[in-house]
Amino acid sequence: MSRGVDNVAAVLDGRVILAELQKAGCADGDLDYEAVVAELAKGTLPSWVLLPSRRTTGSRVVSRRQRKLVDELVRIARAPYLLDEPPPPPSVPWQRLARDLQRTAGRTLDLVFARWEQFSEGGYWVCEITMDGGVRGSFDFTDDDDDPESSLAALADYLCEGWLHEEVWGGWPMCVRHPGRPMWATVNGAGLAVWRCEADPSDEAVIGSVGE
Ligand SMILES: [Zn+2]
Repeated sequence: MSRGVDNVAAVLDGRVILAELQKAGCADGDLDYEAVVAELAKGTLPSWVLLPSRRTTGSRVVSRRQRKLVDELVRIARAPYLLDEPPPPPSVPWQRLARDLQRTAGRTLDLVFARWEQFSEGGYWVCEITMDGGVRGSFDFTDDDDDPESSLAALADYLCEGWLHEEVWGGWPMCVRHPGRPMWATVNGAGLAVWRCEADPSDEAVIGSVGE
């Protein structure tokens, strides 16, 4: 099968779609097709790309057909960048955090890197969070850090801020020397991902070693 022919067909379809959206008032009339497609391929929100003149107002009510057309235009824009195979899952050692949580709070955390989303300028993993066997939600994980320790510290910080402080009553993790004071994830001078006490920064525990 010829890729060239496919691409021409996709370009034509995309132009027809954009024209229909413009006619319906779902896209500004003076947009450049190539620029629209390039922006959508980056993952920019379609309403921002299609209606730059109305960025300050809320979302516009559109019909089901128009929503489908927008989805199709996004699909066409992203198609040239789709990968045959996703990259290998991130190497961030999140299991160390899960072990700390299991030992100190008796809770079972699981992360599943479920799906890779590719755009023209990179991509991210959609990561599902499971706690004690129940799915709690998902988040977009960008592993743009080559160092697994600083990647782990960033992930721990995100999970604590977004989930664990609420999931574990009273906050988690807590300093053993300062009851009631939480610890925060960071990277120490030796380059290790650690929990550090907010009351006394010299209180530090390597992530994965708490409660051992
Ligand atoms: Zn402390």
